Amino acid sequence: MSGNSSYWDLTCKKERYPRLSEDTDTDVLVIGGGITGVTCAYCLAERGFRPLLIEAGELCGGTTGNTTGKVTIQHGVIYCKIKEKYGLDAARDYAASQNRAMDFVAGTAGRESIDCALRENTAYIYGENEQERDLLQKEYDAARSIGINARMVEDAAFPSGNKGLLAFPGQYVFHPVRYVEGLAAAAARLGARICCDTKASGIDDGDIKTVECENGAVIKARHVIAATQYPFLGGLNLFFARLYPKRTYGIAARALRDRPEGSYINVGDPTRSIRTHVEGGETILIVVGEGHDTGRSPDMAVHFDNLARFAEREAGAGEVIAKWSAQDYDTPDELPYIGRVSPKSDIYIATGFSKWGLTNGTLAGMMISELIQTGECAYEDLYSVSRPDITSSVKKAFAGAVNPVIELVKSKFEGTGDIGGLKPGEGRIIRYEGEKAGIYMDGGGNVTVLDITCTHMKTELNFNSAEKTWDCPAHGGRFDTDGNHLEGPPRKPLKVLFKGRYSELIS
Ligand SMILES: Cc1cc2nc3c(=O)[nH]c(=O)nc-3n(C[C@H](O)[C@H](O)[C@H](O)COP(=O)(O)OP(=O)(O)OC[C@H]3O[C@@H](n4cnc5c(N)ncnc54)[C@H](O)[C@@H]3O)c2cc1C
Repeated sequence: MSGNSSYWDLTCKKERYPRLSEDTDTDVLVIGGGITGVTCAYCLAERGFRPLLIEAGELCGGTTGNTTGKVTIQHGVIYCKIKEKYGLDAARDYAASQNRAMDFVAGTAGRESIDCALRENTAYIYGENEQERDLLQKEYDAARSIGINARMVEDAAFPSGNKGLLAFPGQYVFHPVRYVEGLAAAAARLGARICCDTKASGIDDGDIKTVECENGAVIKARHVIAATQYPFLGGLNLFFARLYPKRTYGIAARALRDRPEGSYINVGDPTRSIRTHVEGGETILIVVGEGHDTGRSPDMAVHFDNLARFAEREAGAGEVIAKWSAQDYDTPDELPYIGRVSPKSDIYIATGFSKWGLTNGTLAGMMISELIQTGECAYEDLYSVSRPDITSSVKKAFAGAVNPVIELVKSKFEGTGDIGGLKPGEGRIIRYEGEKAGIYMDGGGNVTVLDITCTHMKTELNFNSAEKTWDCPAHGGRFDTDGNHLEGPPRKPLKVLFKGRYSELIS
C-alpha cells in the first residue's frame, strides 16, 4: 500500500499542465484546480470566455481527489433542516439546484466522453436507533413535500442492525479525479488556459484586479474566482468566523463478499459512508468517515483502523489498498457560500460545502459563470455570501462545535508535554526556550522544532498523527513537519526553531 494517497490519485494518470511563468492579462482568473475551479473554467469557456485557471499544485490535489465520489442530492438529513430554518421554498430551491448540478455532471461526462466510471445508483441514509429513525421519517416528509422521489425502506439486511433507511433513487457515483481531469481537458479544448504549480499569494482589488503569484508572475483580470476552499483573500466578510474546518478519513479495500448495492451513509456520529467502485473487473469498497474538527483528535491514526474494522464487519473487506484524509468546511447554517464576495464585487467565492462539494462545486461553476456573463443567476440569494446566517438561532444550533475565536484564546493556555522518549514519526507540543513549540522526529532520528503559532491568526497548532502535519483547530490551516504551508488560509510557513539530531537537543 502506498502512503497516504487517495485511491483515486493512485488510479488516475494526471495531465501535467505547465506553470505560469510570465505576467499576463485575462478576462476571468480562476484560482484553484478542484472540481469547483475546473467546472468554473469549463462553463466559462463554454460561454465564450477565455479563462485562465491557476492551481498551486496539481489538479485535484486538494479535497476533490480525496472524496467518496458520490454525486447526489442526498446530503445527510438536510432538507428538513433547511425547511425549518429558511422555509419550504428554500428547501425546494436547494433540491432543484443540486439536481441541476447532478444532471450537469452526468450530461457533461456523456457529452465530453469522460471515462470516469459514472454509475447510476440509489443513495441511502440509515438510522441506528429509534431517534435517528424518527429523523429519517422527518427528512422523508420534507423530501416528499418538495417533490423528491424518496422512499423509506424497512427490514433491510444492510447495514447490520439498522433501524430503517431513506432511499433516493437516481443518484450517481464516479471516479472524481478522472472526471475532473476529463473536464479540464474539455475546458482546454474550448479555450481555457490551465497552469499548475502556480500559487496565488495576494490580490489588489480595483476595476482590474492584480493577482500576484508566489513565483513572481502577475496576473491582471477583470473577474477573479477564488475556488480555493478557504478563500485565500483573508479577512473578507469575516470568513474566519464563518467556516468550520472538518477533517475526514477514507480507505479503499478489496471487497471479498457482501458487496452493498447503492451507496450508504449513516445519520449519526461517527460518520460511516460506503460505496463500491469497479476497477479492472474487481470490486473495491470505498469507506469514508470518522470526521472531526481539524486539529482536534487525540489519536488521528486510529481513525483508519476504525474504518477498516467497519468495512470488514459490514462488507467483508479484505486488504486495505489506500488510505487518506482530507478537509472540508462547514457553515453555520449548512448552506454553502457561492457568489460575489460582496454585493457589487467582481471577486467570487465558492466554499463551505459541508462534505457535499461534488454537486455544490459543480453548481458553483454553473452559477458563477452565469453571474459573470449576465450579471445575475438562479439561486443567488439562497447561497449568497451576504445572507444573515449568523443569527442567534443559528449560533444556538452551532453550540458545541469548535468556535474559531474561542480556539484562539484556549490554545494559548493548553499544556505542553515532556521532550523525553520521543519516537520516530512522533510529534509533540513541548516548551523550547521557555515558549510553546512543536517537535517532530523523522525516521532517521532527526528532529525539527517549530514555532507552532499559526501564521494566519496566531492560534496554536496541534499535531496530526495520521498525516504527520501540524493542523490549526480554528481555521483549518495545515503545515508539514518542516513548517511548509500545505492547506487552508495561512500564507506564510512556520518558523523553524531547531533542526538537527535529537541527541543534540536534549544534551
Ligand atoms: C473525505 C471526504 C469525502 C467527501 N466525499 C464527498 C462525496 O462523496 N460527495 C460530495 O459531493 N462531496 C464530498 N466531499 C466534499 C467535496 O469533496 C469537497 O467539498 C470538494 O471536493 C471541494 O472542491 P473544491 O474544488 O472547492 O476544493 P479543492 O478540491 O480542495 O480544490 C481547491 C484547490 O485550490 C488550490 N489552491 C488553494 N489555494 C491556492 C492558491 N493560493 N493559489 C492557487 N491554488 C490554490 C488547492 O491546491 C486545491 O487544489 C468529501 C469531502 C471529504 C473531506
